[in-house]
Amino acid sequence: MFETRKYCSDISSSDIDSEVTLAGWVDRRRDHGGVIFVVLRDVSGLLQVVTDESTSPEQLAVADKLRNEFCIAVKGTVRKRDEANINPNIKNGDIEIVAKSIVILNESEVPPFMLDSREHIHEEIRLKHRYLDLRREEMQKTMIARHKIMQATRRFLTANNFIEIETPTLNKSTPEGARDFLVPSRLHEGHFYALPQSPQLFKQILMVSGFDRYFNIVKCFRDEDLRNDRQPEFTQIDMELSFVNPKMIMNIIEGLLKDIVSAAVERKIETPFPVISYKEAMERFGKDAPDMRFGFELVDVSGILKDSEFKVFANNIKNSGIIKALPIDMGDKISRKMIDDYTEWVKIFRAGGLPNFRYNNGAFEGGIAKFLSDSEKEALKKELNLDGNTVVFFGCDKKKIVNDALGNLRLKIAKELDIIDQSLLSFVWVVDFPLFEYDEEDKRFYAVHHPFTAPVASDLAKLDNLKPEDVEEITSDAYDIVLNGSEIGGGSIRINNIDLQKKIFTLLGISEEEAREKFSFLLEALKYGAPPHGGLALGLDRIVMLLLNRESIRDVIAFPKTQKGQCMMSEAPSPVDKKQLRELSLKIIE
Ligand code: ASP
Repeated sequence: MFETRKYCSDISSSDIDSEVTLAGWVDRRRDHGGVIFVVLRDVSGLLQVVTDESTSPEQLAVADKLRNEFCIAVKGTVRKRDEANINPNIKNGDIEIVAKSIVILNESEVPPFMLDSREHIHEEIRLKHRYLDLRREEMQKTMIARHKIMQATRRFLTANNFIEIETPTLNKSTPEGARDFLVPSRLHEGHFYALPQSPQLFKQILMVSGFDRYFNIVKCFRDEDLRNDRQPEFTQIDMELSFVNPKMIMNIIEGLLKDIVSAAVERKIETPFPVISYKEAMERFGKDAPDMRFGFELVDVSGILKDSEFKVFANNIKNSGIIKALPIDMGDKISRKMIDDYTEWVKIFRAGGLPNFRYNNGAFEGGIAKFLSDSEKEALKKELNLDGNTVVFFGCDKKKIVNDALGNLRLKIAKELDIIDQSLLSFVWVVDFPLFEYDEEDKRFYAVHHPFTAPVASDLAKLDNLKPEDVEEITSDAYDIVLNGSEIGGGSIRINNIDLQKKIFTLLGISEEEAREKFSFLLEALKYGAPPHGGLALGLDRIVMLLLNRESIRDVIAFPKTQKGQCMMSEAPSPVDKKQLRELSLKIIE
């Protein structure tokens, strides 16, 4: 019977009067006394099956036993529904199958939640019974869209001469910023593999090997504290190319994203994407992954307010801080209470306060308005284009705190005022990142991307005698791709010169010995005619989440982990027995 099985969505009104075989699950069952309607569900969709006392009493008896989620096969004839029963809202709502035979392939217990009502299902229950959750239409659509994105990726990259090569999962621990997941080795007592945070070094080595365009749809692992858009294991579309410059890489990624978007949501996007420098992104949006679907831009007003009577401002400038304004020109939507709430909220970002005033059709009211001189008012009005009813918030602190606080407040207010057009797909490249950042506490430089990123050629000389205060002077040949305010990928031109690579390690405080121990294979490979190369990795999960407008990254992964890193279904992680530990020469310290 299965040989002739069709999918629900294969059947249409052009099949009327023909006999078909279907298989799937009972989505719903309605008993109208003498007539039972069963809605059958398979991966393609739904189709109504009817059994009728007058035409098929035996089938009515089987239908009577059916309950939600029973697995069944149905053979029957396609017919047009009565005019009154046509459901224009669903595909195939105009036809139904008159059952000739219904076979129960397997019964189901009463599911712990209704598969068609999402709202009230606690996520933990969905995750615990993921096999049922994945039967829901929304999840099936998501998984299919994800599949289409992966296929579009393979098609596009293959057509552009990329070769798909797998890289190992059991690796040497070479920290790339996040904590490694470690796997103890049984054969080498006391030694550990690390799961890859990314295939960075392997893909660079593939360039040395002459595969000049590589890609890999690959699981990566980072043992970080989880947020809503992070998972301990996630999937990258990883790429590396030889004999390229950033422009060429950006062109390829734009072509790829075009295909990905149209595969997932049947929409077209415009290329080329806008390009913005890291500096400009920080200045205007306070973030290196700016959401450019709306305005509310930050403006540096340090110059205007440096001698302010409001001492907090003046003192901050003396302490080498900055003052930035965030004007919200929808002041009539911003109440006193909201201003108080925001003032409390920005403390998360270590901002001491949130000075503000209201510009109301020419008048400066409330907050710090009374401290402003006429010339300051005039200058602010001009600089911030004040008009109508506008609430102006100020960030006044060290640059990082100001950008953090106002950049995040900007997003929060836009969400609360509901001004973001959710139908927009706003892609932007962020370029010209600094190569390093300086950590005041650790008193050392860190790579902004990773230690294999090349500085732009014109800044090479500045690497000698680099001082912490000049750290932003060195620009890297790196680029991030941002969608609707989320970084969906990043990459760079790499260092292919061994001396430069060694110099960067030194600046990062990685001793020669440590470099040899951790990266000797890379350093060795660089000695043998390593070509100029660069690449990028896209975060597949995040892309699917953003394109399908899903709230959580867990909704686009078949079997995700919770925010505590657990799999609710299999209950990983779990203790292992003593024998396993003994084999690995491990002991748990209580
Ligand atoms: N390996 C980098 C990452 O995982 C991406 C790249 O530079 O290509 O972020």
